[in-house]
Formats: sequence, structure tokens, C-alpha cells
Amino acid sequence: MKYDVVVVGAGLAGSTAARILAERAKKVVVVEKHRHSAGHCHDYRDENGITVHTYGPHIFHTNNKRVWDFVNKFSEFHYYQHRVLSYAGGKLIPFPINRDTLAEVFGIQLATYEVEDFLEKEVNKSKFNTPSRNFRDVVVSQVGERLYELFFKNYTMKQWERDPEELAPEVASRIPVRTNRDDRYFADRYQGIPKYGYTKLVESILDHPNISILLGTDYFEIKDLFKPDLTVYTGQLDRFFDYKYGELEYRSLKLELKTIDKEYYQPVAVVNYPNDYDWTRITEYKYFLNEKSDKTTVCFEYPLAKGEPYYIVMTQENMEKRDKYMKEVEKLEKSGEYLFVGRLAEYKYYNMDQVIEASMRKLQNYSDNI
Ligand SMILES: Cc1cc2nc3c(=O)[nH]c(=O)nc-3n(C[C@H](O)[C@H](O)[C@H](O)COP(=O)(O)OP(=O)(O)OC[C@H]3O[C@@H](n4cnc5c(N)ncnc54)[C@H](O)[C@@H]3O)c2cc1C
Repeated sequence: MKYDVVVVGAGLAGSTAARILAERAKKVVVVEKHRHSAGHCHDYRDENGITVHTYGPHIFHTNNKRVWDFVNKFSEFHYYQHRVLSYAGGKLIPFPINRDTLAEVFGIQLATYEVEDFLEKEVNKSKFNTPSRNFRDVVVSQVGERLYELFFKNYTMKQWERDPEELAPEVASRIPVRTNRDDRYFADRYQGIPKYGYTKLVESILDHPNISILLGTDYFEIKDLFKPDLTVYTGQLDRFFDYKYGELEYRSLKLELKTIDKEYYQPVAVVNYPNDYDWTRITEYKYFLNEKSDKTTVCFEYPLAKGEPYYIVMTQENMEKRDKYMKEVEKLEKSGEYLFVGRLAEYKYYNMDQVIEASMRKLQNYSDNI
């Protein structure tokens, strides 16, 4: 059969693109190397009846109404507001930093209007470079040395196996600080978890008569079989070009699942361990969909230097390689025969909503230009 479009990858980038094109009457085939769809946000129900996120905890949050409306067409969303505690100094402390965090760490009760002044004094007491030269400078210039040491320094060392002073400033984004007692991890207008899981959400996005799916198939082994008008590529950027400018580095994770024979293991879905133990965080999955069971499934997360590609590594060397590959991408996209979108194909850290938005935008530009 002749397909108009080949989509490489059945993650959110690929499935969004496939759906938009299918609705424009294009015949689309989606090629996915894993035996399941949903890519990085894949999930499944385990033997305890608890929905486990295969590649680590995923919370959907966005301020983009168009993206929110899009995903809500394909799944109901369970109301969920994410809360995280950080185990520091032998206590479980609310994170990101809010008034209660400051009360726990400094033993002071501040009014909302006093928080900014308090942090400014903390910053003024601290030493850092302006403008920021590294990860440490970015964080210390926002919250001061004491909070940096307690919550960020060792967590970052564990996660990246590098001293934060050796990491590019871009690795640290704006540190969310709440001057009130809002202890939600995300402040976005729309938040939740797909009621029947992310895999069902993606399957439903792909459920269209114009879409065929080939699971367990590596695109590079079958690409010559198709002569499509358009290929939407969401796989690894360096792989597409046969690594001609060298390999792009990724960090990975070891995720260790455990069933615990009690109803709850910890008070919230995620507890960070910045300073103690080898794991970075523990996730208790039943919180996400408020699933009931006498047992509970928890996931210990350990950073790994190599393995399944999870996080891009923003060193100068990697970003220079990326630039070279992206110049090739530009040329191919200009030809009208290819689009590259998603966290692997653009070598870019994206949240789920950003991937959907990027996919929508790429296809909009594509149709504007043909
Ligand atoms: C630990 C972790 C936690 C996260 N938590 C959140 C969160 O809470 N909220 C949030 O919004 N985002 C979160 N994210 C980000 C989120 O996972 C991604 O934004 C999103 O899943 C990326 O979608 P994608 O389609 O670009 O890539 P992917 O999901 O990786 O999809 C790409 C697909 O292409 C396939 N593929 C690759 N090469 C080939 C090939 N040669 N042939 C065929 N198929 C191929 C892959 O198998 C994969 O299925 C998290 C990420 C990680 C790592």
C-alpha cells in the first residue's frame, strides 16, 4: 500500500503528527521500534492494580489551552495536583521552596510579603558569579547558598555525576519559589493524569482509519520500502545522519520497582533524596490515579551514565554537534520531504505538552509552506 506519510516513533510527537495528518486525509503509517506505543510516557497496570509509568513518573501540566483541549479529546483526565517532599536533614520538607520550606529550614515564620526580602538577604550573604557562569551561580543567585547546599547541590551531583560548577547555566532553569504556602509542584493552569493511562491516551490519538501502525519495527531496517511524500522523524537525531558528526550524549536511569506489603509507603507521590542514599527519588505510583490496593508499588530511581536515552546532556561539545545536525535538518525540512520533531529528533528537553505543541506548530508551518 502507498502511504502519503511515514511517521517514525509512536510517542507523543509522532502520534500527534500522525493524527493531524490523518485528519487532513493523508494515509499515514507509524513505525515504532518498541513493541508498545506511547514512547517515554508509556504506562501499564501491574499485578497490584496500580498504573506504573515505565520510564519514570509523568505528570501532565500545561498552560496551553490548545494542547489541553487536544489531549482531552482523547482521554478524560483525573484531577491530580503534584506534590513533592525533599528528605533533608532527617526531615521531609515541602519542595519547591515555599513559606513552609523556609519555616522548616530556618525555623522562622514569615508572612508572604516578607519572603522576597528574606531570600534577597540570603542571596546577598552568598558568593556567586554575575552573570552566571554555571549551574551553581544560577541557583545561588536566586535562593542563596544555604538552600542551594540543602536541596540542589548534591541532587545535581547525583543526577549528572558532575559538580554543579562544571555544568552550563542553562541546565538550571528558573527555580520556582512560592512566597505563599502553595506546595504544588507545578503552577500550570491545567494539570492531571489521563484517567486510563498515557498508553491508552496515545492509542486513542492513533485510532483513526487513515493510520496504520507497525510496532517492533526499526525504521532504518525498512525505510527503503516506502516512498512517502513526507517523513516525520521523531527518533534520535544523530542516528538519522549515521552519526556523521559524532554521537550525542544522553544520561539514563535505572528504575527499580518494589511491591511493598502495606497500603502507603510515603505521604506523597514523590520524595526527593538530595543528600542521602544513592537513589535520587522514590515514586509511589498509586497516588497519581488515587488507586486503591492493600499493597503499593514504589520506584527507586538511580541515575545512569548510559542506557535508554532519557536526558540530553547540555555540554558545549554536545550542543555544537547538535548545531551541525540541525543545519542538515533545516536543509531536509526545506525540501518539504521531512520534518524532525520531539525530544530525540531535536535533541531538546521537552515536557509532554511542549512536544505536542511542537508537533502542531511544525505541521502548521509545513502546510503553510506547501
Ligand atoms: C524520567 C522522566 C520523567 C518525565 N516526566 C515528565 C513529566 O512529569 N511531565 C512532562 O510533561 N514530561 C515529562 N517528561 C518528558 C516526556 O517524557 C517527553 O516530553 C515525551 O514523552 C517525549 O515524547 P517524544 O514523542 O518526543 O519522544 P519519545 O516518547 O521518546 O518517542 C519517540 C519514539 O520514537 C521511537 N523510535 C526511536 N527511534 C526509532 C527508530 N529508528 N525506528 C522506530 N521507532 C523509533 C522510540 O522507541 C519512541 O517510542 C519526563 C521525561 C523523563 C525522562
